[in-house]
Amino acid sequence: MEYIKSRIRDVVDFPTKGIVFKDLTTVFKDPRALHIIGWDLSQLYRDKGVTKVVGIESRGFIGGSILAYEIGAGFVPARKPGKLPADTIRQEYDKEYGKDVIEIHRDAITPDDIVVLHDDVLATGGTMAAAYKLVKSLNPKKIYVNFIIELSALNGRAALPDDAEVTSLISY
Ligand code: AMP
Repeated sequence: MEYIKSRIRDVVDFPTKGIVFKDLTTVFKDPRALHIIGWDLSQLYRDKGVTKVVGIESRGFIGGSILAYEIGAGFVPARKPGKLPADTIRQEYDKEYGKDVIEIHRDAITPDDIVVLHDDVLATGGTMAAAYKLVKSLNPKKIYVNFIIELSALNGRAALPDDAEVTSLISY
């Protein structure tokens, strides 16, 4: 884990002043770090019967795909509005300024699925809370929630349902 931590790049004042952005491109471009991420994520979910990993656009697509591949699950993208081509369901949520929307294909998850929802970073939790609601509305057997990094000072877990089982590889 120390190796992954050493590869994370802190970018000050991105995308706006006052934010310290946890840049994972420097992790993903490093073959050893990418391998460790895949291994560590998969160890968390290997024996849980997971059938689908839902990755949140766009940074959640990377770790989500790797995790899905490693544990033999399918991958499902949760995307910004208007990007998915077929029939979608949507969930609106509040951002710091205004609202945002996340969408998923209506047939992406079935009641037989056991799902891991994945994003790279947990900040305020608003994005993941919306994704959780969206997936929940499709009635899978179980939903797990996972991040590579959790910014614990922002208390994003409080935005998620009490019964959500949340894991993160690294906590700041
Ligand atoms: P949240 O506030 O939890 O809804 O986060 C919104 C999205 O922005 C998530 O998908 C994160 O990937 C990203 N994000 C928020 N804050 C940061 C940060 N400090 N560093 C990197 N990504 C962030």
